[in-house]
Amino acid sequence: MEYSPYYNPELETMPRKELERLQLERLQHTVRHCMNAEFYRKKFAELGITPDDIKSLDDVRRLPFTTKEDLRENYPFGLACVPMRDCTRLHSSSGTTGNPTVVLHTKKDLDEWATAVARCLWMVGSRPEDVFQNSAGYGMFTAGLGFQYGAEAVGMLTVPAAAGNTTRQIKFIRDFGTTVLHAIPSYASRIYEVMREEGVDPRRDTKLRVLCIGAEPHSEEQRQRIEENLGVKAYNSYGISEMMGPGVAFECPQQNGLHIWEDYFIVEIIDPVTLEPLPDGELGELVLTTINREAMPLLRYRTRDLTRILPGECSCGRCHRRLARLQGRSDDMIILKGVNIFPIQIEKTLLKFRELATDYLITLETKEEGDTMTIDVELAADFSTDDFKALLALEKNVTRLLKDEILITPKIHLVPKGTLTVSDEKKAVRVKDLRKLF
Ligand code: ADP
Ligand code: ZN
Repeated sequence: MEYSPYYNPELETMPRKELERLQLERLQHTVRHCMNAEFYRKKFAELGITPDDIKSLDDVRRLPFTTKEDLRENYPFGLACVPMRDCTRLHSSSGTTGNPTVVLHTKKDLDEWATAVARCLWMVGSRPEDVFQNSAGYGMFTAGLGFQYGAEAVGMLTVPAAAGNTTRQIKFIRDFGTTVLHAIPSYASRIYEVMREEGVDPRRDTKLRVLCIGAEPHSEEQRQRIEENLGVKAYNSYGISEMMGPGVAFECPQQNGLHIWEDYFIVEIIDPVTLEPLPDGELGELVLTTINREAMPLLRYRTRDLTRILPGECSCGRCHRRLARLQGRSDDMIILKGVNIFPIQIEKTLLKFRELATDYLITLETKEEGDTMTIDVELAADFSTDDFKALLALEKNVTRLLKDEILITPKIHLVPKGTLTVSDEKKAVRVKDLRKLF
């Protein structure tokens, strides 16, 4: 493997024992540092513990959880652990599920963050000779500046195109010879559609090679569709503003799970109901403790994201454990007629059909016959909507396969391409819940 400032074999492939020693050292330091925030001082007092009680990595379980609600209640600066003059930037989460939360960064936090993103980008083959384009919004959304500084650290020529204006985005890709692109998955599909409309063949007319996709749940089938359409390798990127943003976990060239950087975080998977830790391999809620942050370290942060640790080592040689593809947030789970369903299961099934495009909308409603699910799904651009018989057959097949996957029978609406509006700038909304609660 090639060496660089951002392929750091010492940190990426160190023996687990050494990594754990480093984690413990950083955890102990972090816990002491957290006492600068009244929020944690109070929590420690309630639990009757002090930083000196953290003697081993397992002692992380003695620490209090931190939740999104805690961040909201202490908005904006209640969890700061350094004086304001030491803070250099403020970010906030996208607010997908309610009021946004605020995260503070010192200069060192920003450096460490850029290093983490650079490590990810290097891992998937980005090099200084590449041209990197970022189609994420550059504002409070961490995927804008987060990727920007990571790509600059690698030394690539960066094109901070920002979100939206797909025609211009494609023009930049062609004119500047973009080789590495960051896009949220729903937007990657949109770029491909507009290329088609404009007669641009990504293989012939662009130099695109690597795509970093993340920020929203997507299925393996969605990734494969993006790879085929754009003629690229697409790597899953997991980020969360409260931890810093992008760069938390990223797929390596094996494309089999996302390495989570354990020199930055202590990783736990818990049962979201009992809050007990789960063994590797079991699906649960991801809980992260930051161990190298200054401005706003967070202990046992409940991400609400559901995933599992993939047991075993990765053949790439990295020692940092891997997260399985994220299933979605615990609050994304649909409960219909007593059955638990994740939108990603529906997506996975829909995308098995070449006749269908990648956009869909799940609507839940209360009708006379009870709660129902309707799925509007777009037909592929080259599928003729005139052939009524073919449409009916397709609808029947899609319904049957979905019933096998989710155990209930949804109503399928096949709609022409372009019917569903997907935002160019925001994460895709896949579920509309109009059910009456009573
Ligand atoms: P918000 O929670 O308001 O959307 P963020 O912009 O911080 O704020 O988004 C972080 C969230 O995005 C994660 O908690 C997760 O739910 C989702 N997410 C990020 N990356 C991925 C990914 N690769 N796969 C699935 N979901 C992801
Ligand atoms: Zn690997």
